Amino acid sequence: MNEHNGREGFSCLHTHTVFCDGKTDIAAMCEAAFARGFASLGFSSHAPITKKTGITSVWHMKEEKLDEYIDTVLQARKHWKGKLSIYLGLEVDYIEGYCSPVDADIRALPLDYNIGSVHYLISPKTGEPYNIDEYPENFGNVLTEFGNDSRALCETYYNTYNNMVRDGGCDILGHLDIIKKNNERYAFFDPQESWYKECLVTTADLIAAFRAEAEKTGMATGSDHVPVVEVNTGAMIRGYTAEPYPSVDMIALLAERNIPLVLNADAHTPDHLGGKYAEALQCMQQSGHSTMVFFEGRQNGKALWRETAV
Ligand SMILES: [Zn+2]
Ligand SMILES: [Zn+2]
Repeated sequence: MNEHNGREGFSCLHTHTVFCDGKTDIAAMCEAAFARGFASLGFSSHAPITKKTGITSVWHMKEEKLDEYIDTVLQARKHWKGKLSIYLGLEVDYIEGYCSPVDADIRALPLDYNIGSVHYLISPKTGEPYNIDEYPENFGNVLTEFGNDSRALCETYYNTYNNMVRDGGCDILGHLDIIKKNNERYAFFDPQESWYKECLVTTADLIAAFRAEAEKTGMATGSDHVPVVEVNTGAMIRGYTAEPYPSVDMIALLAERNIPLVLNADAHTPDHLGGKYAEALQCMQQSGHSTMVFFEGRQNGKALWRETAV
């Protein structure tokens, strides 16, 4: 529900806590967001994946914690009512053939929104999912799965991302070009190469086409998710990249196609909230975006986004 609290401050819908790999609890994150003048805060724990994939991950929420997570966020919403709008979300993995934001169990949850993210690709070597969101020291393993063919790795990444978009069910498309996370350090591909630029154009075209189709058919077909793209400062905050996800080039392609952007910090600690927002806003302005969107809850199954100047 639309719930004005008189604040026009920033927001973050991409927030992790001790329910997954965040460092603090929900209450501490709420207090920090309020202290920073945020209008709203959305929680997006990594949705459990073990049952669907067999993967035992230390950074996803455990299945048995899901109910407690939902209760705790909903209690925080009550506690902060009128001061800080609190939203219940999940960051949901798309793993080809295993799990997707469109899955019935995700749709059955009382979520305000979800973030669809690709952290895993299917390894051409083993046919099994493997994590590409690696720390720099482990990045060599990511490339090895693709026989050190960085073009094949990137193209597979974007094909997988496109399949998530086509699958539907995403409210927010998460860290769109996370495949570049370690590229500033290792320069394993050149983002100016034509094949890489083609990947970006194809994905931007697909998102625009998917949004148009979802807006047209909308509730009639049950496709009540018209995705927006996040500008995610998480890798900037951690010093992995000098620019947000997605890149300035991609943000410009999204601007040309009128695809709305939402600004998120991928916060894992209270001090991440609002981190590098000024730099990200500058990227958005320089890339042709005069507006971004703020989330204002869900009504009749549809996410409400308010457009605001950047
Ligand atoms: Zn993520
Ligand atoms: Zn995240």
